[in-house]
Amino acid sequence: MAIRKKVTILGSGAAGLTAAIYAARANLEPLVIQGLQTGGQLTITTDVENFPGFPNGIQGPELMEQMIAQAERFGTQYIYDNAESIDLSKRPFTIKTSSEEIITDVLIICTGASAKLLGLEAEQKLMGHGVSACATCDGFFFRDKKVFVVGGGDTALEEAMFLTRFATSVTIIHRREAFRASAIMVERAKRNTKVDYLLNSVLEDITDVSKGEVTGVKVRNIKTNELQELPADGVFIAIGHQPNTDLFKGHLPLDENGYIKTNGVHTDIVGVFAAGDVMDSVYRQAVTAAGTGCRAALEAQWLLEKEEAEGEMGKPEEAKAGAASSVRETAAADSLRS
Ligand SMILES: Cc1cc2nc3c(=O)[nH]c(=O)nc-3n(C[C@H](O)[C@H](O)[C@H](O)COP(=O)(O)OP(=O)(O)OC[C@H]3O[C@@H](n4cnc5c(N)ncnc54)[C@H](O)[C@@H]3O)c2cc1C
Repeated sequence: MAIRKKVTILGSGAAGLTAAIYAARANLEPLVIQGLQTGGQLTITTDVENFPGFPNGIQGPELMEQMIAQAERFGTQYIYDNAESIDLSKRPFTIKTSSEEIITDVLIICTGASAKLLGLEAEQKLMGHGVSACATCDGFFFRDKKVFVVGGGDTALEEAMFLTRFATSVTIIHRREAFRASAIMVERAKRNTKVDYLLNSVLEDITDVSKGEVTGVKVRNIKTNELQELPADGVFIAIGHQPNTDLFKGHLPLDENGYIKTNGVHTDIVGVFAAGDVMDSVYRQAVTAAGTGCRAALEAQWLLEKEEAEGEMGKPEEAKAGAASSVRETAAADSLRS
């Protein structure tokens, strides 16, 4: 038998769990479909020093365990599975996992994004132990260290320049001669004397997995085939992010990079909200994901309250469509005022 919910949240990262805390505390008894990465991206890192409230920092997995417990305390239910299919063509919406069907008045999508990686075994094993995919998050740990950045787009150059605030040297490894980054970014990076380049080169391996820390990199020049082994303290992989939005293709508008298009946290469909990295290609931080998760839950709550007051959910489909968009506009206006 299908599970009937007022609010269903896809994803258990910072955005999904914050949305769950707010929805649960509003007595909406939300259901979180956790996905296969319970706790989201922060579970693959170690120290998190920029999430407010932890002056001595906190381990990523521990922070997420606390959020899960906090949402559970107020009545959140969890399903450990991926959402495999959705039907957003009519409200209430239908979501299917491998074993459950969920019918929900509101859907909050928080399926996040994944940093693209090179696929090296060492990269996985040393993630959070000298390997990172986020300079804003981890740059601070590389004070007076020697670091390498892999990539050739704007993000790679931005990350490299940010890292020069801490590291003694920052070397960009890029597989081509020319950068994909904008001319202005290339120019800025070239003016920064702390940034070096290994062009026409690929990162072949990172040492030393047996020590559990980064001690060096193996870099091959693809023109000469020469392999260099260089000492290193850190490696930042900056080759882009992949939003987890395959499920929503054809159901919701996505931008050219696959992120869900939103107006604030509203999608094009009344009753479907999106929060966190799945709709934010710019900030991509736990605290910003939590912030949009909070907004989505409040918008959901206000929408349901309005509809309940106006008896909307009981009306036939055709009548609801027009009325629902005015509900959304009012909810958005309300949120701007508050
Ligand atoms: C190595 C690393 C270190 C980082 N360090 C920091 C830091 O120090 N500070 C900081 O602020 N930020 C840091 N970040 C960024 C931070 O982790 C993200 O900004 C944050 O996790 C985004 O939260 P989210 O909830 O939007 O998505 P995510 O954390 O990506 O969570 C997505 C969730 O969606 C679920 N999901 C995916 N597909 C489905 C599906 N089909 N059905 C159901 N569920 C699904 C997943 O299982 C997961 O639970 C770091 C990121 C990385 C990779």
